[in-house]
Amino acid sequence: MKIAVFSTKSYDQEYFEKYNTDYDYDFSFYETALNVDTAKLSADCDVVCVFVNDVVNEETIKILSSNGIQLIALRCAGYNNIDLEAAEKADIKVVRVPAYSPEAVAEHALALILTLNRKTHKAYNRVREGNFSLKNLIGFNLSNKTIGVIGTGKIGETFCSILKGFGCRIIAFDIAENDELVAGGVEFLSLEDVFRQSEIISLHCPLNKHTKHIVNKASIAKMKDGVMIINTSRGALIKTQDAIEGLKNRKIGYLGIDVYEQEENLFFEDLSEHIIQDDMILRLLSFPNVLITSHQAYFTKEAMNQITLTTLDNVAAYKNGKELKNEVK
Ligand code: NAD
Repeated sequence: MKIAVFSTKSYDQEYFEKYNTDYDYDFSFYETALNVDTAKLSADCDVVCVFVNDVVNEETIKILSSNGIQLIALRCAGYNNIDLEAAEKADIKVVRVPAYSPEAVAEHALALILTLNRKTHKAYNRVREGNFSLKNLIGFNLSNKTIGVIGTGKIGETFCSILKGFGCRIIAFDIAENDELVAGGVEFLSLEDVFRQSEIISLHCPLNKHTKHIVNKASIAKMKDGVMIINTSRGALIKTQDAIEGLKNRKIGYLGIDVYEQEENLFFEDLSEHIIQDDMILRLLSFPNVLITSHQAYFTKEAMNQITLTTLDNVAAYKNGKELKNEVK
């Protein structure tokens, strides 16, 4: 099987090559993202392997199809960047890596909370410069705070268990209640009540037409003054302009994001010597109570092992005509 791997970083190649000894696939690694302009690079391949910011829309899929691509193998859980209808029409199967390490993402959400709250990033810099003052470093105890979780699938569920350990009250909204979480004391409420009652809101639902901009001017207005919003899921769950307004008028007390609406032009790249054209992210970076990481929540050794192995297994299942248990339809 010939596999064109798009959006490849050195660490992706390293992991694929490490595990390929058991599979013997023929890889072509491309640093560029897959989109309508780069889809031609898939010529002579059977499979394209893509990540979160590859643009696999109808036009891209047409080119993939004319190149004979049979399988799109996502090396991530989310699949909002794939036009599934167009893939089905072109008879191209789509597979993904569900639940490769819910702990990786849930623990990163916690890291964002603790850093924003206890300001360890600021303390680190201060102390290194000989500034031992505590001024403006005051935080709050997580114990007994109300945490709102939107989306209680694999990651949301893990996040709830971690926060339980901090002695928090956990309230949640999902389109399907999670019985195990209910048994463990998580209260499922309406979305509106989760917005109204939470001191910290953490987003763990997928991005789709129902959840796009779930955090917007109207929902922010319902939240508690000084609310902390955490997004490790997908950027477009938050309407960035409305979050900026919420930060400016101090309704939002803290914002921690690992994902950003327009991240495809920024994240995963070293742009330190470039003039960044995205004024919205620069505005976000200007707030002292905003913490942004560059889509790294998934990035642990355990997750990379699992992502690589599941992706290689997904391709093997296709190659051997076996059931595609990780197919997305
Ligand atoms: P999952 O499918 O196990 O869980 C998603 C949950 O969201 C499900 O319980 C589902 O019922 C719920 N949901 C669906 N529509 C909803 C709605 N309208 N309102 C509320 N809840 C809704 O997925 P997961 O593995 O927990 O991953 C969640 C998301 O995390 C993924 O979709 C992906 O976008 C994101 N993610 C981010 C990273 C990262 O590195 N930042 C890594 C992996 C996944």
